[in-house]
Amino acid sequence: MSTFDIIVLGSGPGGYVTAIRAAQLGFKTAIIEKESLGGVCLNWGCIPTKALLKSAQVFQYLQHAEDYGLKVKGADKDFDAVVKRSRGVADGMSKGVQFLMKKNKIEVIKGYGTLKAGKKVSVKAEDGSTTEYSASNIIIATGARSRELPSLPQDGKKIIGYREAMTLDKQPKKMIVVGSGAIGIEFAYFYNSMGTEVTVVEYLPNIVPVEDEDVSKQLERSFKKAGVKVMTSAEVTSVDTSGDGVKATVKTAKGEKVLEADIVLSAVGIKTNIENIGLEDVGIATDRDKILVNDYYQTNIPGYYAIGDVTPGPALAHVASAEGILCVEKLADMHVEPLDYGNIPGCTYCSPEVASVGLTEKQAKEQGFDIKVGKFPFSASGKAKASGASDGFVKVIFDAKYGEWLGCHMIGAGVTDMIAEAVLGRKLETTGHEVLKAIHPHPTMSEAVMEAVAAAYDEVIHL
Ligand SMILES: Cc1cc2nc3c(=O)[nH]c(=O)nc-3n(C[C@H](O)[C@H](O)[C@H](O)COP(=O)(O)OP(=O)(O)OC[C@H]3O[C@@H](n4cnc5c(N)ncnc54)[C@H](O)[C@@H]3O)c2cc1C
Repeated sequence: MSTFDIIVLGSGPGGYVTAIRAAQLGFKTAIIEKESLGGVCLNWGCIPTKALLKSAQVFQYLQHAEDYGLKVKGADKDFDAVVKRSRGVADGMSKGVQFLMKKNKIEVIKGYGTLKAGKKVSVKAEDGSTTEYSASNIIIATGARSRELPSLPQDGKKIIGYREAMTLDKQPKKMIVVGSGAIGIEFAYFYNSMGTEVTVVEYLPNIVPVEDEDVSKQLERSFKKAGVKVMTSAEVTSVDTSGDGVKATVKTAKGEKVLEADIVLSAVGIKTNIENIGLEDVGIATDRDKILVNDYYQTNIPGYYAIGDVTPGPALAHVASAEGILCVEKLADMHVEPLDYGNIPGCTYCSPEVASVGLTEKQAKEQGFDIKVGKFPFSASGKAKASGASDGFVKVIFDAKYGEWLGCHMIGAGVTDMIAEAVLGRKLETTGHEVLKAIHPHPTMSEAVMEAVAAAYDEVIHL
């Protein structure tokens, strides 16, 4: 039986990053994967969606070329080619992970892994053969899949999940998107930009419900302006798929409504891959669909660890990677500090983009903080105006007493790249005054951060 220091089960951004860091630290490492290397993120999540969104954005630019004094004749889309490009980008990224595994001398084991007691994993290969491997430490990183609701049973054709939504062979004329978290909103933006008539149905009172209310409202306005229909405080209770298209019954405060479309996209969250991987045989504890871990990702059974989407905490690629790195650094006896789950940025890559970190204004008030709030609209930014992207704003929240940067919320072009400033500032325990005195380059969208902070302290210049 082959023996390793560390075996990682699953090769998403949790698993493959963990394996690389483990190899860097001198551990003899293997990674087990049943599909393509790179997990959901590279193959079915972050990367292929951003490729689709880029195509949508370019198409939008072409359609609005005249706004920039340009004439583009006959701009049209080729849906197949857009999907093909996205798959090509995903394949290229997965091949990149293959290269990284080789470079770091990590053994890649193809097949379905099942945990066994005594720190072993049994792997069933495609040809049906089974091989057992053992390791001093086993790290579970099996990730998640699209969550199914009884009212929205996915058939992959008329009621679909995210995998089908990024590989449809025909562009639907009409689509209902159920759920307005990042995944639902990104697909709603993509399909609307490509010319599909899109209705977003959200159970809660606001779209992107985890965001600051001002951001949710602004995004709803922008989406409506772009032609997306938005229904909030509304629930799809059933879908009739018997005819040519779908008929979705939607319950709202004003009564029931039936929406007709070609396809329903169910984007109501994720379900972790914790079944049939041997957790029960080993005795690993779970709670509400997640594997329970401590601050260093140890499960209740010594020698077994879990990271990424299978554990509690935000289901994001950068979180999975950070957890895996911390887990193996702890195994290498390095001095590590638990992750600060209060300082994790979240982004939605529609247009305008949404990005945030820390407390919303409502949360800050609920937690009893006396706060200073500053807001700077991109309509007052020279760079935004020059770019034809003046939708949105930056909003910052500070603790009035000690100047702690409690939260930062952005909506606008390119803000998913800008949020890192707030993450770093908060990590370094920066005060508003320090951000204000850090000179931001002109003209940039990032000046809006400095101006929003200035607004919080009544020193704003360009408003
Ligand atoms: C449409 C979409 C868009 C997203 N966009 C973003 C984004 O922009 N930014 C962001 O941060 N996050 C995004 N996410 C979330 C992100 O993809 C996940 O948080 C991330 O992939 C989780 O990483 P992971 O390593 O925990 O698991 P996964 O990426 O799910 O990887 C798990 C891997 O384990 C393998 N596996 C499972 N069971 C076994 C087994 N028994 N044997 C062998 N292999 C197994 C799976 O095949 C898979 O490859 C998006 C998700 C979706 C669905």
